[in-house]
Amino acid sequence: MKEIFQKSLEKQLEKLSGKPQKNMERKLGRAITAALMDVFCTLPQRKAASPRAAYFSAEFLPGSFITGSLANLDLHNTLKTTLRQKGFDPECIERLSDPALGNGGLGRLAACLLDSAAATDIPLDGYGIRYRYGIFQQKISGCEQTERPDLWQEDCAFEKEHRDDAVKVSFGDGEVTAVPFDIPIAGKNRINRLRLWQCEPCTPVDFNAFKNGDICLAFKEQNNAEAISGFLYPPDDTVEGKALRLKQQYFFSAASVASILKDFSKTGKPINCLGEYIKIQLNDTHPTVAIPELIRLLCEDYGKDFENALKISGEIFSYTNHTVMAEALECWDEALFCRILPKVYPYVVMLNNHLRQNIKSSELINKISIIKDGTVRMANMAVYVSHKVNGVAKIHSEIIKESVFKEFYTLYPQRFLNITNGISHRRWLCLANNGLSSFADARIGTDWRDNLPLLDEIKNYNSVADLDELMSIKAKNKRQLADYVKANGGFLLDPDFMFSVQIKRIHEYKRQLLNILAVLGLYIDLKNGELKDFYPTAFIFAGKAAPGYYNAKQVIKLINAVSALLEKDETARKYFKVLFIPDYNVKNAMKIIPAADLSEQLSTAGTEASGTGNMKLSLNGAPTIGTLDGANIEIVDYAGMDNNYIFGAKRSELACLTNYDPMDIYYSSDRISRVVDLLKQGPFGDFTALFNSLLFGSYDPADRYKVLLDYPSYMNARLSANEDYKNSRIYAEKSLKNIAAAAHFSADDTVQNYNNKIWNI
Ligand SMILES: *Cc1c(COP(=O)(O)O)cnc(C)c1O
Repeated sequence: MKEIFQKSLEKQLEKLSGKPQKNMERKLGRAITAALMDVFCTLPQRKAASPRAAYFSAEFLPGSFITGSLANLDLHNTLKTTLRQKGFDPECIERLSDPALGNGGLGRLAACLLDSAAATDIPLDGYGIRYRYGIFQQKISGCEQTERPDLWQEDCAFEKEHRDDAVKVSFGDGEVTAVPFDIPIAGKNRINRLRLWQCEPCTPVDFNAFKNGDICLAFKEQNNAEAISGFLYPPDDTVEGKALRLKQQYFFSAASVASILKDFSKTGKPINCLGEYIKIQLNDTHPTVAIPELIRLLCEDYGKDFENALKISGEIFSYTNHTVMAEALECWDEALFCRILPKVYPYVVMLNNHLRQNIKSSELINKISIIKDGTVRMANMAVYVSHKVNGVAKIHSEIIKESVFKEFYTLYPQRFLNITNGISHRRWLCLANNGLSSFADARIGTDWRDNLPLLDEIKNYNSVADLDELMSIKAKNKRQLADYVKANGGFLLDPDFMFSVQIKRIHEYKRQLLNILAVLGLYIDLKNGELKDFYPTAFIFAGKAAPGYYNAKQVIKLINAVSALLEKDETARKYFKVLFIPDYNVKNAMKIIPAADLSEQLSTAGTEASGTGNMKLSLNGAPTIGTLDGANIEIVDYAGMDNNYIFGAKRSELACLTNYDPMDIYYSSDRISRVVDLLKQGPFGDFTALFNSLLFGSYDPADRYKVLLDYPSYMNARLSANEDYKNSRIYAEKSLKNIAAAAHFSADDTVQNYNNKIWNI
């Protein structure tokens, strides 16, 4: 494989060498893609007629497909040497853009599972939308987030358009065409495919709307049939916005179901066998409308009666829940649903009637019915029809049985299971952290690269020499990040500082606010001469806020304002640095994560379903400072309490906490009130909105996410991590234990679990 790749790449590069080229990066990207495609031709090709699983997801966050393929096929070093030999910059691939078809963890998980399925020889295809603009590119200007369109498609040479497989998708107000674009997802022994649907007719957006700095305007301009494959998550605060989202969901779900039925026809088997041929995993509720759509087709095109169609669909569908936040369990206005999807709506009604006839207890019926008080509840539909429903971490899978799906759980206990998320170590370790990967190779051999659990062995290599080497690897990664940060914005980052890293979408429940308030707390202590022996620390943040999410955008502004304040203060500068790295994406994550000394996982207990950023950071040797939430719990189980910094109220404690009033904390603690007051009268601007959200609330209760409650224990945990860090060998040993423990979080295992416990292909 290496030889084919090298030969083909050399040939491609010859066409580029000699003369200076415009758009060199893009051309190199195309050359590498072409060479990879030559390798793909030698692999066993996708067999449409053999049994498969399909992953339906509104989001995919794959990172550049080039790096994904290099990681899966282990061609990364071959690429670098060939580029170098031919006189090209071996680092060029790091500048290729990421397809921005996802928001955060949900989309990244989808990508990790596809990569791992290809690598471990499971026939799993992805189905989603070929968003023209995907998620925006984030820039910071005057401390605030601005949003720019991301034109990822120009950089991606992997896609193949398949007009012959186009399908019509019809809505109440007309019909569109769905045209598939296929991206090969390669492993050493198989090729799977990611199929993304483009809606036609489609016209580009007028970018003047963006230039005025308002992405919401551009969204609105697109509010018609042509917007369906325009943006990821257009704002849904208007009726048209909601209609558009429902159209997007039906668009890709219906097209994907049609495509699967076409593939199935190649098997020549009767339709009763459909469930043996295909398993469909619903990644959250977004693609749930695929269920009534399949039932409709089975009834109308294949002559099945409803009962039978439902039975077949039950064998096929299963549903992964990703959040217990009530606002994320999708509901549609029934009238809107009927207006947008008049052909599907009757089948939703039939499903609802079926459920109501099946369930005798009237109390249960109200909780679990699919249609209730004029709304269609997608999560209930997904749970009712699916044969399996899974949460994404142990605690989360328990929570869904106790809360959101409690009634379903009493009716169908065997339907519920847990499959903890995982990450592709090929990308997040082998590719992202060459130093640490070689460290492991030299001690335990290279088999862990295709079998991550073997990495657990590394924990025994804790001699002084081992630990010193581990520290020097981290130091090098930190220098590299500092160089990158300097080259991209001119910010100076001292690699001798401790790097404390919180990188993830900006959301109130993830509590970036807690982090930055605690930085302000340290700053006040320093000014008062109360901070003793603090090891200098860089607090590194990255993450995007949804364009319409005011408080999240205020948090970004606050982080940048605090950063500027500290920068101006000569004493503070010696101890703290706050750095917000713009435009968090897969590419940046691969640079930041290997350089982290501490992983900030601060979500209020019971709110983060799993998290995968926590796993990536742990795998790269950063102990966690975090709550007992999501997969943090499992990380600590494997890596040990002593090797991480756990703080904050537990979920069970929060459940008993009735009448929480942050005002009590504010009045009883000077340390807290001084910090919170800075939001109002700070030397860095007016953050009254955040101040009010902590103390008064509005639509939400005051301090909904218990920032003030957990502040003292967070500060203690932070200080104890800081103390430990001073003894670098002891800290390196904690780091080593975390690396070994993260061997449990391989997406290879996760996808094997999906196959063994749900799909059985
Ligand atoms: C891993 C990852 C996420 C998810 O991070 P969490 O901390 O689990 O929320 C989001 N975005 C990108 C680019 C990632 O790589």
